[in-house]
Amino acid sequence: MDFSLSEEQLAIRAAIEKICARFDAEYWLKKDTEGGFPDDFHQAFARDGWLGIAMPEAYGGAGLGIVDAALMMQTISESGAGMSGASAVHMNIFGLNPVVVFGNEEQKSRWLPPLIAGKDRACFCVTEPDAGLNTTRLKTKAVKQGDHYIVSGQKIWISTAQITNKMLLLARTTPFEEVKKPTHGLSLFYTDVDRKFVEAREIPKMGRKAVDSNQVFIDGLRVPAADRIGEEGRGFEYILHGLNPERILIAAEAVGLGKAALQRAASYARERIVFDRPIGQNQAIQHPLAQRWIELEAANLLVFKAASLYDAGKPCGAEANAAKYLAGEAGFHACETAIMCHGGMGYAKEFHVERYFRESMIPRIAPVSPQMIMCFIAERVLGLPKSY
Ligand SMILES: Cc1cc2nc3c(=O)[nH]c(=O)nc-3n(C[C@H](O)[C@H](O)[C@H](O)COP(=O)(O)OP(=O)(O)OC[C@H]3O[C@@H](n4cnc5c(N)ncnc54)[C@H](O)[C@@H]3O)c2cc1C
Repeated sequence: MDFSLSEEQLAIRAAIEKICARFDAEYWLKKDTEGGFPDDFHQAFARDGWLGIAMPEAYGGAGLGIVDAALMMQTISESGAGMSGASAVHMNIFGLNPVVVFGNEEQKSRWLPPLIAGKDRACFCVTEPDAGLNTTRLKTKAVKQGDHYIVSGQKIWISTAQITNKMLLLARTTPFEEVKKPTHGLSLFYTDVDRKFVEAREIPKMGRKAVDSNQVFIDGLRVPAADRIGEEGRGFEYILHGLNPERILIAAEAVGLGKAALQRAASYARERIVFDRPIGQNQAIQHPLAQRWIELEAANLLVFKAASLYDAGKPCGAEANAAKYLAGEAGFHACETAIMCHGGMGYAKEFHVERYFRESMIPRIAPVSPQMIMCFIAERVLGLPKSY
């Protein structure tokens, strides 16, 4: 076993750090206060070709694996850009995996190059208000009419829908009552966001103000059949294919965020003098910080184990889910400890850790909840009966 990064991976990390250094903590604090998509940040990554890190070389990508992509996303988050920075590029990195794996040549050459170049921006439209985590119960309908579909329905929590011109959309093409299995009859589309038929209403939320989250109302959107990925009715299967790498990337981002918080806390603990000595000289301050470091390291090992398995083409469902769970919790606890270590100043925006804390809730909740992960491990790894 070799846990060290290769020369190439060290170079990736250094290059990402260099870009991130141009967007300092004050930049992200301003974004967190005022909102507004970090266009300049997104474009900086597009210009240097990073958005296609895990996309095939034939379409302008770098053709690298999920280990490299996870390293990139973790470095972004760890720079202090947190989930705001990571979410601004996240969809580009792996969101279009179903197109890469199941799309035809015409679709790949039409869709991937503009996404990699940062000209197109895409959102991922799966979650619905009435279905929740039970994705098979989603109600958005795509009804075939000749060479196109008419789509109507409602999505929720869709990131970046305010600023995207493309969407990856899961919709029902065969009614639930008519399919043999609940997972059948859903189809996947990648299509234009025609604002005449698509309304995105921003949800005021706890953190990550720079990257909008939305309720999306789709009413009579005309989607060409040429924008359907793969076969009609197999969309759920296509989405499932990309779930493990998606979880690995989010987990990598959560560890990065936790590390950013821990660095700030350790630095504050070294400098803040109370009772004539640095607060970091007290074990009550040291030990929680050390514990958080241990937890983040453990989570990180699982993140990169899962990523290595994925890149080697081996099953990684248990590891990817466990990594997302562990990293989400470790990132959250590190941010919480960082606030407590700062005392009152932990609650002040100018010390940044309260922003990290708010953002650390995202990788706990999305794209799948801790409860669902535990259900997965209980059933699939431990062989226990399905509980729901
Ligand atoms: C900031 C943010 C960004 C997001 N971005 C996107 C995006 O871009 N695109 C997208 O499609 N979605 C997105 N999501 C949605 C996200 O993936 C969902 O919120 C998440 O999957 C949880 O689904 P839900 O909110 O419907 O929870 P629900 O399904 O309503 O569940 C609520 C709670 O009940 C628990 N629960 C439900 N059933 C069971 C059971 N059987 N056993 C135990 N516990 C159970 C869940 O674990 C959870 O804790 C985003 C969410 C957030 C917060």
